[in-house]
Amino acid sequence: MSDVRNVIIIGSGPAGYTAALYTARASLKPLIFEGAVTAGGALMNTTDVENFPGFREGIMGPDLMDNMRAQAERFGAELVPDDIVAVDLSEEIKTVTDTAGNVHRAKAVIVATGSQHRKLGLPREDELSGRGVSWCATCDGFFFKGQDIAVIGGGDTAMEEATFLSRFANSVTVVHRRDVLRASKAMQDRAFADPKIKFVWDSEVGEVHGENKLTGLTLRNVKTGETSELPVTGLFIAIGHDPRTELFKGQLNLDDEGYLKVEAPSTRTNLAGVFAAGDVVDHTYRQAITAAGTGCAAALDAERFLAALT
Ligand code: FAD
Repeated sequence: MSDVRNVIIIGSGPAGYTAALYTARASLKPLIFEGAVTAGGALMNTTDVENFPGFREGIMGPDLMDNMRAQAERFGAELVPDDIVAVDLSEEIKTVTDTAGNVHRAKAVIVATGSQHRKLGLPREDELSGRGVSWCATCDGFFFKGQDIAVIGGGDTAMEEATFLSRFANSVTVVHRRDVLRASKAMQDRAFADPKIKFVWDSEVGEVHGENKLTGLTLRNVKTGETSELPVTGLFIAIGHDPRTELFKGQLNLDDEGYLKVEAPSTRTNLAGVFAAGDVVDHTYRQAITAAGTGCAAALDAERFLAALT
């Protein structure tokens, strides 16, 4: 059994690393579990990030995350590239267990495990991520000026992305596997009224084409089985996100969609000494800067919580 730490942080995206930086600079000697496979979080899978303030020419996603990591480490954050596989957060001393079965103890825990965008599950999808395939119009729409784009999905997010992208794109084709949208009426009306947005109903993506850059899609009609080609250089997949909250079920309160609930505007969860930040909480903004912002808030909340214990 390890010594009792002040704070353990689970997750290493912008939220986790920012919480690490702040708690390290507050001399709390944080221990951070970065994740075994994707240390650095969602931005490790992208290329240019042009909307994180402070980088006037933009920065590559992995470089931004390396910088955040190194900055936290410089102030004494202890970073471990491993997953946490079990937690017990209910007592005053919380425990988290790593993949080797080691149990780590702390007075405060910050959860920053992010959320996973749903994928189509097609070959080439990951390979072309950042090369035409995207999950975030706010992040990448600007790169697609004058291009032909497809948006996959039929909910509010898909309509919002399509409407946003039509500002930049030559055309936006919404591909939906049903013949009606799930999106709210207001969102649908906006999309239907937009002359740049077309709809392909009852269809799904069968194949994603392109070597180093997306060149097009093969669509398959789910009712007739017919296939057709859609030449696009942008593909925005808007079929939902899954917050990584499996570990916390039964301990931390989750909302209907599985996101962690906090006492906003604080990052406090339902358990004393447990804080949550970033995309694991946020279904609205989902940006690196907002994740970093709530990571900072979680660190300050944890700091105040620990100060009150002494
Ligand atoms: P994440 O970045 O998802 O990090 C969560 C971390 O927690 C991961 O490292 C994961 O391994 C770790 N973790 C999960 N479970 C465990 C566990 N049990 N134990 C240990 N570790 C665990 N935003 C922008 O602002 N600008 C952009 O240009 C931009 N581009 C994007 C491009 C892509 C392809 C994607 C997918 C997203 C993009 N985003 C962009 C969104 C941005 O990446 C996210 O909003 C942000 O990364 C969320 O940060 P986070 O810290 O909450 O979570």
